Amino acid sequence: MADEILQAKRLISEKAERFTESVIREMTRQAMLHGAVNLAQGFPDFPAPEAIKQAAAEAIAADINQYAITWGARSLRQAIARQMKVWQGLDIDPETDITVCCGSTEAMIATLLAVCNPGEEIVIFEPFYENYGPDAILSGARPRFVKLYAPAEGDGEWHFDEAELRAAFNPRTKAIILNTPNNPTGKVFTRRELEFIRDLCVEYNALAITDEIYEHILYDGTEHISIAALDGMRDHTVTINGMSKTYSVTGWRVGWAVAAPALTGAIRKVHDFLTVGAPAPLQEAGAAALSLPPSYYQELAAGYRARRDRLLTALRQAGFVAYLPRGAYYIMTDISAFGFPDDLRFTEHLVKEIGVAPVPGSSFYNDPRDGAQQVRFAFCKRDATLDEAGRRLKRLRPSA
Ligand code: PLP
Repeated sequence: MADEILQAKRLISEKAERFTESVIREMTRQAMLHGAVNLAQGFPDFPAPEAIKQAAAEAIAADINQYAITWGARSLRQAIARQMKVWQGLDIDPETDITVCCGSTEAMIATLLAVCNPGEEIVIFEPFYENYGPDAILSGARPRFVKLYAPAEGDGEWHFDEAELRAAFNPRTKAIILNTPNNPTGKVFTRRELEFIRDLCVEYNALAITDEIYEHILYDGTEHISIAALDGMRDHTVTINGMSKTYSVTGWRVGWAVAAPALTGAIRKVHDFLTVGAPAPLQEAGAAALSLPPSYYQELAAGYRARRDRLLTALRQAGFVAYLPRGAYYIMTDISAFGFPDDLRFTEHLVKEIGVAPVPGSSFYNDPRDGAQQVRFAFCKRDATLDEAGRRLKRLRPSA
């Protein structure tokens, strides 16, 4: 009898069975397998800034090699607080308001685990960065998806329907996850949109958990606004950010969550038992990175602007409807012109026959059918990489 019970016991948790491996990370493996140009996963193929590599090397040489304070090295927390004042006018106390984590990925899951109870709901705009789906499942919360609609023309703005967003809020709503500048759409939420979201958060006593890791990657004069800076949101916001994208060090795994002290206390506890702490010497390098001059950020955005235009031209010449991103480093496209039944078969064709790896659109939607005629390309790559992709994409043929 005992044996039967043991046999019947499921060894995999129901939670883990409810999501798959990351499609984005799988596409990197596929690109390597087939020798395709990897425009799938969002990591730069060019070097990180010399000054911060030097700072990391110096920290290791100075023997900053043991656990940092679990919620983050003081030097990094002070630098984060200082820069949030400079960039968004926010008054952050580095002693009580900041938790440094292993990337913004950990900051997001630690936050959700710290705030969600089973049965509570999280509002998520879709298409969404694919981590948010499994994050919601792991935290026990129920996601409610609200559409971001593609512009009718490639150069218009992605937008949401205010009535649909309002309808997604109810007394069970614990939080909305906001990602601006947005992956995968490139949307930069406007002040008006953020105020609308703010009003719903205040009305329903819900949190805005905002992923701002592309805050410095902006084009065409768009402005990044932290929702925490809007009146009434200081205690209703968890602001998540990190080093990965701003300093081109996605492998370092340093990110942070900024929130009012009571929320931070809960996030710090979860973080401590998840990972103890982020890499100590790389946190020191983080403090150096956050001390780079303003010109660093101007050059970062200008460099990405040129890469955006380069890939946009290549994609449009190849027959894609390519939506113009206003921020972040991705281009979402419509693939209807190529006559494929869905994004997975198109992606397979692109990887194996054309030699370019995108991310299939379905991985950004709850219902895969919603992304069946979309794929996303990343342009955080050297000009030579983008040009090679452009050359290969010329072999694509729109269907008659
Ligand atoms: N959030 C968004 C919106 C992303 O696009 C990514 C990476 O692509 C991450 C978070 C991961 O960030 P980190 O490297 O800080 O964990």
